Amino acid sequence: MLLTGIILIAAGQSLQAQPQPPKYSEVKIWISSPADAQALQQANLVLDHFHAAPDHIETVLNEYELAKLQQSGLGYEVLIPDLSAHYEANIRRTPAELKILEKEMQEQYNVSGFGFGSMGGYYTFDEVVAQLDSMRLNYPNLISQRESIGLSLQGRDLWAVRISDNPDLNEGEPEILYTALHHAREPQSMATIVYFMYYLLENYGTNPDVTYLVNNRELYFVPVLNPDGYVYNQQTNPNGGGYWRKNRRNNGNGTFGVDLNRNYGFQWGYDNSGSSPDPGDETYRGTAAFSEPETQVIRDFCNVHTFKLGLNYHSYQNILIYPWGYINALPPAPDDGIFIALAEDMTQFNNYDHGNSTQLLYPVNGSSDDWMYGEQTTKDKIFSMTPEVGSFFDGFWPDPNRIFPLAEENVYLNMALARGEGVITADSLDPLPPANPAAYSDYTTPTSIQINWIDPTSLANGDPLLPGEFTIEISRDGSPLASVNGGMQGYTDSGLNDGQEYNYDLYTRVTATDSISEAVGASWIAGGSPVPTAPAGLSCIPSTSQAMLSWSDPTTQIDGTPLDDLDHINIYRNGILIGSAAPGAESYTDTPPQGFTYDYYITAVDNENPPNESAPGNTVNCFVGDTPNFMVWVGPDATG
Ligand SMILES: [Zn+2]
Repeated sequence: MLLTGIILIAAGQSLQAQPQPPKYSEVKIWISSPADAQALQQANLVLDHFHAAPDHIETVLNEYELAKLQQSGLGYEVLIPDLSAHYEANIRRTPAELKILEKEMQEQYNVSGFGFGSMGGYYTFDEVVAQLDSMRLNYPNLISQRESIGLSLQGRDLWAVRISDNPDLNEGEPEILYTALHHAREPQSMATIVYFMYYLLENYGTNPDVTYLVNNRELYFVPVLNPDGYVYNQQTNPNGGGYWRKNRRNNGNGTFGVDLNRNYGFQWGYDNSGSSPDPGDETYRGTAAFSEPETQVIRDFCNVHTFKLGLNYHSYQNILIYPWGYINALPPAPDDGIFIALAEDMTQFNNYDHGNSTQLLYPVNGSSDDWMYGEQTTKDKIFSMTPEVGSFFDGFWPDPNRIFPLAEENVYLNMALARGEGVITADSLDPLPPANPAAYSDYTTPTSIQINWIDPTSLANGDPLLPGEFTIEISRDGSPLASVNGGMQGYTDSGLNDGQEYNYDLYTRVTATDSISEAVGASWIAGGSPVPTAPAGLSCIPSTSQAMLSWSDPTTQIDGTPLDDLDHINIYRNGILIGSAAPGAESYTDTPPQGFTYDYYITAVDNENPPNESAPGNTVNCFVGDTPNFMVWVGPDATG
């Protein structure tokens, strides 16, 4: 009730001072000469998210910025005069259709908790809060109760949660921070981390990588960093398509909002191209470093925590940005190499470009990343980066059919950051994984697979690990299967389907500390492979009227397990099946038309229904007839 009251008061205030939300336009600016570039600079337009072509750029401007552009004398074209109206006019799905799409997406991406919100497919602020509560309700052992880490300018809570094993305890594990919605019109930033939170919760205990990170990290999430701006967009455009970016600071001159990602206190206001001193601009940096409650809250949150790495999610540009933002340089060695190696790993599947802000877009000063990394007095440095999710074509309000794919393409990126290679030293108290994992089954055990391994004998730091101190955890095709005491070094998985392949992951868990090793894998087919090995050593002794073939019957399937069900050997002449031989015969006499050379090969066939036939063995050619003084190749169609 109190919160509702605050929202109403806040909305009333802003409506009084500013009856209509400002109009945002998609604008093409012609930049084809150095003079044009200079004119753009002199127009004091600090651009955000633009699409650059050789002779022009496309960007989003508010009315105030458009007026500056008009005065600059630059050539430009307004492509979409009112982006919000354009979005509203192009909504392509009814709520019922969205529901169907949501179900399809959940099935395709194998997620159950994450779904669509009511604002163009995106969760509203209240819906995000409801999701946090739902996560806690369903996964109380993995996620903490939401905690307010401070209030926005208009009195809304900035909520944070922690995902870890024992989520209600600070276990001193390395801390990782994920934030979204610095900029209110970038809802995919929020969707990407909420999706990732569900990914962690739903895959814990079955996916060894997720299990390892949840057990060995404390992952913090602040999904809505700028609630006032985000709620403002909801109020002006409840179906999505609101383009408000900044917070809702009344600047006192008829303009509103400070760009929170220009307001942090490291090299704040370094120059006027990385942020704007002009309150009407979208990149207005505020009256002072940390002038805004929202950035103060994040500053204080970082100062009382020991975050090692962080991601501040934005949209869009398909890039991953690391410091520095305020100048075109990287942090000093060895941190520059650590950032680059991390970014290489993180972007290897989504192929986002990576680099510093100037390399990729434009300089940015007063950014979260520069402060989180650069401030090393009040806290330790945080290896903090900014993914800009989605392409120019996705824009700020991607079609709902893009929400799941854009979130999914950043799951690996999020996981790799949390691993923190080069930043977080491997926990030396983690155990080593089991060695030489192997799975085996043959025809004598058609419905079971025997798994064997060699137990570890030490932790990563070399301390001894005794059999009574650990278990080997086994999962089958992603689901937990068994917990086997140290010393056993084997497990029989039964009740399986003959002929089906099964994949196993094994890792070591130390009973006292709950710490786990990396996972190692093995896979096998129940009953062994059903496919016989090809017969070997086919040879041919020709005569004037016959080809006498001989070979060795196979004794194994292709995976090396014994072959118990050989039914016959198929004989092929010039690719045509001409006969068969019983097991053990190991010879066959063919009497083909004389005077020709023939190609023979053979295969092994078992007695299953349908039968399994091996690949062909070696091919022999054989001339049948008198005086082979010339060679004739006879094609398959000439024989029958
Ligand atoms: Zn942004």
